[in-house]
Amino acid sequence: MEPDTSSDARGQVFRCWSAQGGSRPLTVAGAQGSWFWDHDGNRYLDLASQLVNVNLGHRHPRLLAAVTEQAASLCTVGPHFSNDTRDRLARLIAERAPGDLDRVFFTNGGTEANEHAVRMAKLSTGRSKVLTAYRSYHGATSGSITLTGDPRRWPNEPGLPGVVHFFGPYAYRTAFHARDEQQECERALGHLEEVFRMEGPHTVAAVLLETVVGTNGVLVPPDGYLQGVRDLCDRYGALLICDEVMVGFGRIGEWFAVDAWHVTPDLITFAKGVNSGYVPLGGVIVSERVAAAFEDRVYPGGLTYSGHPLACAPGIATIEVFEETGLLAHVRRLGREVMAPALEKMAARHPSVGEVRGRGLFWAIELVRDRETREPLVPFNAAGAEARPMAEVMDACVAGGVWPMCQMNRVHLAPPLVITEEELRRGLEAVDAALDTADAYAT
Ligand code: PLP
Repeated sequence: MEPDTSSDARGQVFRCWSAQGGSRPLTVAGAQGSWFWDHDGNRYLDLASQLVNVNLGHRHPRLLAAVTEQAASLCTVGPHFSNDTRDRLARLIAERAPGDLDRVFFTNGGTEANEHAVRMAKLSTGRSKVLTAYRSYHGATSGSITLTGDPRRWPNEPGLPGVVHFFGPYAYRTAFHARDEQQECERALGHLEEVFRMEGPHTVAAVLLETVVGTNGVLVPPDGYLQGVRDLCDRYGALLICDEVMVGFGRIGEWFAVDAWHVTPDLITFAKGVNSGYVPLGGVIVSERVAAAFEDRVYPGGLTYSGHPLACAPGIATIEVFEETGLLAHVRRLGREVMAPALEKMAARHPSVGEVRGRGLFWAIELVRDRETREPLVPFNAAGAEARPMAEVMDACVAGGVWPMCQMNRVHLAPPLVITEEELRRGLEAVDAALDTADAYAT
């Protein structure tokens, strides 16, 4: 590989070796709370929580203390030993997970969590196939990129055998010619049942889905959809795996997003918000029923760093901070009273806004050239000049001191859950102003 000679916004040439040669990253010098800054002192409100993981904000004192204290007593221990920090975090997570999701298998992140959840499903059911949504992202290793339905899968194909994709509900761009959300929900469930039937229900180990679809558009499931998928899985003897890598740990104002719809999956995968990413950590929460399959045989999937104490310690602190500060209620209130009304106002003011949607502190603004036809501001999977309008929107946000996440024709807003009302209002004003850039392309 050639040395990467790309440069950052200051023209500083990178001398590191990197396979990500096409990227032009900002060099981040420091961060605190909901803000980060560069070496020139430019400060940005982190409206994406980095990659939707820094839920408790940057350098939270309780998380820092937890890491330091843990380091002073035990920095690392193999997964074949028990360890108080790991055990305590597992117990705290299981106590907050729904139903009989009582066992926790730790990984180093979300991608691995999905790999393991699927492996557990296959081994415990003795079946080989997994159904996942086209509009999904489940991670970047060979297995998880195959589970992913969106175009990030394409350059990695052919992937692993046995993964079949389906369409989930997305009323704004319905694949089912549905007239409203309820019909979209019914038809999406009918479609999934057809996929089960055509694949041979006895071959399907699991349905894997993001409880709220994240990087593919913040698609909040219509009421009844998750329960409908649960019922289909029960009817055909398949397991339901909910990927909560992005939405678990408070993102939509619930410990786990499934709680908003009172649905209990067989496995939940998590990462990111579990400890705000201060040290890499992820995992699978496993129901007693699935765990029973491994009672008298070892699950073949040990990881050297599984449940790393330096990662679990800030996980424990995270749960304590949530409960001591009433953070779930804060997220629900900011979502309801600040985000939703501000975004509705933007939708009314900007001809480029096709739809705004989300819940808690997890939102997307979908940008279009034409509200009537819903033609996206940039074509699906646009690159280069075609993607320019979205780059201009991002540039305008950055110039206004906010750093959201732009994906295809959408601006995603997922600030740290500890953001104050004042910070959020300021940030939303900057996004509102930046959307004027998109309006210039809209009819
Ligand atoms: N699943 C979802 C829904 C995600 O959003 C992501 C990452 O953004 C992943 C899995 C992969 O997680 P990680 O990057 O921690 O491996």
